[in-house]
Amino acid sequence: MEYIGNIIRPPSESRSMIIQVTVGCSHNMCTFCGTYKGVDFRLKDIDVIKRDIDEASGCGFPFERAFLADGDVLSIPASVLIDIISHIKKRNPGIQKVSLYGNTKSILKKDVSELKELAGAGLTGLYHGIESGNEEVLRRIKKGALPRHMIRAAAKVIDAGITLSQTVLLGIGGAELSSRHAADTGKILGEMSPHFASALTVMVLPGTGLHEDFIKGKFVLPDKFQLINELKILIENMEVRRDCYFTSNHASNYLPIKARLPGEKEKALALIHSVIKSGNEGLLKPEYLRAL
Ligand code: SF4
Repeated sequence: MEYIGNIIRPPSESRSMIIQVTVGCSHNMCTFCGTYKGVDFRLKDIDVIKRDIDEASGCGFPFERAFLADGDVLSIPASVLIDIISHIKKRNPGIQKVSLYGNTKSILKKDVSELKELAGAGLTGLYHGIESGNEEVLRRIKKGALPRHMIRAAAKVIDAGITLSQTVLLGIGGAELSSRHAADTGKILGEMSPHFASALTVMVLPGTGLHEDFIKGKFVLPDKFQLINELKILIENMEVRRDCYFTSNHASNYLPIKARLPGEKEKALALIHSVIKSGNEGLLKPEYLRAL
């Protein structure tokens, strides 16, 4: 397999066939992200991609899912994506799910008809990192999209029949915008009502713009209980229109929550409330176990 640089994938794709289709991220500007720093975004050679698919297909593992890496594979032409997905499915009849990352701009650049065509070819899932629903936070972190764009993008994916998984980032508003970030993020998740939503917690990585701001004192990390409070405010404000499986069980989080919303909202909030009320740090994940 030809894997170039850092390969990231969502936790739910741990048993997937990972095929690197692009190198890097088409945006590569988010202040908190160091994954692809210094890497120019490009589509890999189609023959190399197909050779990797053939190699992974022959390894004997009974793959049921495939994930197309790296950041923002959706930005490549639909015809190329369809060719890749068709090759995966031809070589692996057992693969039922094919997913990728897509950012807001790339989703908006594709017509719903193109997204439907991709769904018809076998694209079943799209991971969309929105980080926040607060406009000021999104500007500060240079996300490259505002809430109104994200809402339009989410609607297109869902209209096309593709399962939408969105991720948000607790703490990314800093201590200053903590409550507004949490409330607006809950509201936008409710408005978009993705099939899956997961909260990660920001970690300040050396080499990133966020780290520079942190050193200069321009970005102050919320403390552990402020972060748990963000989780509470977010869920309180998340009024979904369809079933949504919400999780905060990523390794970066202090408190893992799994809840099917809207049904398990009150149960999740009661648990978070009891942890906040206890003030007991022993109930939170120890710092040394946190990771991105
Ligand atoms: S967070 Fe995602 S969109 Fe932003 S730079 Fe990193 S990989 Fe690219």
